[in-house]
Order: sequence, then structure tokens, then C-alpha cells
Amino acid sequence: MCYTSIRFGDRVEGRPKMMDKRWAQAPACREQLVLFQERLDEVVAPEHPIRAVDQCLNLVDWSAWERRYAGRRGQPPIHPRLMAGCILYGLMRGIRSSRDLEDATRERVDFIWFLERRTIDHSTFAAFRKEFGAELKDLNRQMGRLVCERHGETLLALVLDGTRIRANSDRHGARTAAGLQRLVAACVEALDAKLAALAEADRKAAERASEADAETRVREQEDIAALEAQMEKLQEALAVAQARDAVRREHNGKDAPPVRVPVSDPDAQVVPNKDGGYAPNYTPVIGVDPVSRALVYGEVLEGSDESAAVLPAVAAAEAMGGAPLKQVLADANFATGANLEHLEGRGTPPYMPAGTALEAGSCAIRPDPTQPLSPEQCQRLPKHGKHFATTAFVYDAAKDCYYCPMGRPLSPVRSGHDRNGVAYTNYACPGSAGCPRAAQCVRKKAPCRTVRRDQYQELREQVGRRMATEAGRAIYARRAPLVEGVFAEIKHVMGIRQFLLRGLENVRTEWEWICTAINLKRLLALFGKSPIHEPRPKAPLIPAQSLRGRPVLCRLKRIFSHLLHSLALQINHGLRSSTKNLLTSENSVVYILAA
Ligand code: SF4
Repeated sequence: MCYTSIRFGDRVEGRPKMMDKRWAQAPACREQLVLFQERLDEVVAPEHPIRAVDQCLNLVDWSAWERRYAGRRGQPPIHPRLMAGCILYGLMRGIRSSRDLEDATRERVDFIWFLERRTIDHSTFAAFRKEFGAELKDLNRQMGRLVCERHGETLLALVLDGTRIRANSDRHGARTAAGLQRLVAACVEALDAKLAALAEADRKAAERASEADAETRVREQEDIAALEAQMEKLQEALAVAQARDAVRREHNGKDAPPVRVPVSDPDAQVVPNKDGGYAPNYTPVIGVDPVSRALVYGEVLEGSDESAAVLPAVAAAEAMGGAPLKQVLADANFATGANLEHLEGRGTPPYMPAGTALEAGSCAIRPDPTQPLSPEQCQRLPKHGKHFATTAFVYDAAKDCYYCPMGRPLSPVRSGHDRNGVAYTNYACPGSAGCPRAAQCVRKKAPCRTVRRDQYQELREQVGRRMATEAGRAIYARRAPLVEGVFAEIKHVMGIRQFLLRGLENVRTEWEWICTAINLKRLLALFGKSPIHEPRPKAPLIPAQSLRGRPVLCRLKRIFSHLLHSLALQINHGLRSSTKNLLTSENSVVYILAA
């Protein structure tokens, strides 16, 4: 038979001509009868990561998950270890959606091996991934602790960073409060029209009782239900927009521009993307142990202020390690005065760029600050845009004034509290008239140059001095590779650039799954070559062609020796049911007869 003449559905009799010795032989011809069904354990290679995942999941306690199933009725549920294992392994392999996971459990041999041919519906996955938020936190903590325990001295320092991940919401679907009010009004109008149409359809159905009228009535009812659902979403977004507008007006004055709220997911905020532009985003923050690289903290913030995560992250790391941290490393977004004060006060030195601290070696520092700097020195002063930065001015504590690059004193003119309750004093230039550096110093619209000093300034300068030492630089240099590497892993390797779920609580649970998958990867890296990865012995298969042309006695001898060997292996592994299948399998009988 010519190989090319075989049509779909044809039964192949014999071997096609194309399968001669010139071409590679198929190890498992589709229609070949076999003596032994291939065991699942033989399909997955001994060094396949799914085996290590399976064993790592046995190292954690699942009793809290199991308790949630107590008292449930119906069919026995699939163990949460298997459900969670599928989701975590899927995340590691870039399989995220519930439907893709369902497909994987039917098609991918690693998932089939892990689940031992159980199949899981996409709706079961979707419900499971949202339901176990608290238990998942505990699972993540257990895995993080396991990773840390395997390393030497861990949880002595904490590295923090945040990123932006897109919300599951259309960029163009964000509306201001005014826009939302217009949409609500349009929705009310449409709803009134539909209710009138329904009343008319009811009246006609009562008069004529025709099938067409009944259908119209059902259609109108469906439209009304859809409009009511839309109205609910719009009103929820409108309430969020009004609340955020009120906060913004309180902070930035009554002329502050209105907030835009994504209608599909009002919990998300329209803030700058990491790669440019604006879109509805969430701001997740992670805390990494620098020795083991385990994630000891992972949270999605309610707003976009990353500094809010410092104290909870420190508390979480110390709860895991059981001892106070010795260092906290983070970028300038985390270095608020309150955070610096808290960390210094509890003896955990922060390594964060303090922003307004004078740098060692700056030409602003001079023996006599009342003397003006030369034009060349002024060029080298720190700048903020085109103008001198605050660090170009030197503070004199004894006289409570700043000295500017021209050596003139800036005296206190105003004191007060900012919107966060931080006390400050403004120092102002006596007058820029006749100053040759005025263009580099004063902004166009400002009447004079001012410098603000708040209650945390001394602390910032202290942190800045520590950061400027050689040891401080070396410690801070470890920050970026540690945390940025994790974000690269999440975004580029795992392909997570947008959340699948909507609403802050759901997104937090999704982020917890992602952090747990990262910790599972760390565990795999630890256990990858350890004894837990021991492969089971494989039962050798007898290819059909190896028996052809041999004497009958020789064939029987080979078959029975193979059977005995397989039986010994099966019994060794306690797979009695498989052994029974082997002996009674129809295929086995056919194969023996054929041989
Ligand atoms: S504008 Fe005022 S503060 Fe600025 S350099 Fe001139 S004198 Fe000093």
C-alpha cells in the first residue's frame, strides 16, 4: 500500500511502503495491538519537573484545605492538593486560564500523570482559585519557610519592590463621575422604554395569547435584566469615582482634575504603566529574602502608594523568620519619613534613597556656606529639572536657616502640616533681584525660591549618609537584581502582564497564587537533584518486530520472562490493580496469540 494513498479513516493493513528502512520507524504504531498497556509512570520521564512538583506538594500541610470540605455532599471531591498543584504547575508552564487548564488535564501527559487520569472542569478550577484565599496564604508561607530553612542564615534582611500589572479592564472604558452620571441617565431612559415595551407585550399576550407575543415578552425581559445589571455596574463605578474625587479635592484643592474609574473593574486605578502610557492597573508589592530568594511577602495594594507596604511586609518577614530583621532594602517610593522613622526606631536600618539628603562630595558642602560658589561649581550642583535641587542648599541648624549657592541665607517664612500630617517649615530667599543664578534657581511663575524642611529631614540625612558609605552602596546594589529578577520571571517567563480576575479581593488571591508558584519554583530548584526525585524502575516493553521470525519456543520464553519481570515490578510498587489488568487484558491475550 502506498502511504500517500491512505485516506483518513482507512484501516492500514500491513506496513505502508513509506515505512521501509530508509525512514525512522514509529515506536508506537497507532493500530498496533500491545501486550501491556503503557503505565502512566512510564510516559513521564524520571527527571520531569512534574514529579518534583508532586513530591514538593507532599511536604506541606493540607489539613486546613481539607477541613473546608467537611460536611459537603455529593460525589467525593478531588483533593485540594491536586487542584492547587494543577493551578501552580500551570502557572509555572504559562497555562493560566481555567479552560486551558481543563484542556491540559485531558491532553498533556504531565497533567494526566499528576492527576492520574482524573479530569477537572474549567468551572471547578475557576471556583477553586477564588475560594481558598486564606488557606493559600498559609500554603505560600509554608513553602517560603521550607525554602528559607534549607538555606543558611535567612530572613535577616528584606528586599521590597512594587510593580504595575494591568487590570482586566478596557483602557478606554474608564469614565469620570460626570461621564458615569450621563451613562446612568441613558441607562435609566433605556430601562423605562423597555419596561413600557414589556407592559405592551404583556397586554398583547393577554389579549391574543399568540406565540410571537410570548417570544417578544421573553426578549424584553432578557433586555431588562441586562440593563439592570449594567446599571448596577455603572452605579458602583460612580460611587467609587465620587469617593476618589472627594479625596483628590481634599489633597489637591477643588480644582483638581476628576478621577477616571474603569467601569469593568472599579477597584483598579488608572495610573502610569511601567512601559509607558496610562491604563487601569493594580500595584502588587513583593518582599524577597536575599539569601534564599523566597517570597516572604506578596500583596496587591488598595491604591498605588507603595510605601504603605513597608510595615506589613516587615511584620510578615519577622513572623516567618521568628527574629527581627537587620536590614530593609527598597527604592525611593518606600522611603517616606514615617517609614524611615519607624524602621530606625525599631533598630532595623533602612537602605532606601532618602531623596533630599546631601550627598557626600557634593560641591554644595563647603567650609563657609556664606561664601558663593563659582559658576563652574554651580554647574555641578544637583538639579531638579533645570533648577537647583533642594540638596544644593546647606542647612545651618544653629541659625535655623539655609544657605543658597550664592551664600545668602533663606529664613523661615511659614510653618504648618501637610496633607499627611507631617510638620514642615518653608525657608524663602530674601530676593532674587540682581542674583546671577536666579534663572537656575527660581521657577518662572514663582515669586521667590523656597526650600521646605519637614520633621523627618534629619533622619533622611542620616539615612543618606549611611547609603553613601562603601558598605551602604554594596548592600543597596543587591536590591535591583533580586526583586527585578522576580518581576522579570513573573512577566516574561510566566507571561503574567494582566490579571485574569476582577475586584481587589480576587486580584489579591490571584497574586497569592503567583507568589506561591514562585516559591514552588524555589523549592523545585532546591529539591531538583535530591533523593526525593528518585525514579521508579521501568518495565521494559517488547517491540512486536523483535519477535518476528523467531522460533515459537523462543517467543514464548521471551514473553513469559517479560511477564514475570513486569509482575515483580508491579508487585514491588503495590500496583495490584494494574497487575490484575495485565493478566486479564484483552490486548495481552491477543498479543500472546499473535506472537
Ligand atoms: S535666587 Fe535667591 S536663593 Fe537662588 S541663588 Fe539667587 S539669591 Fe540664592
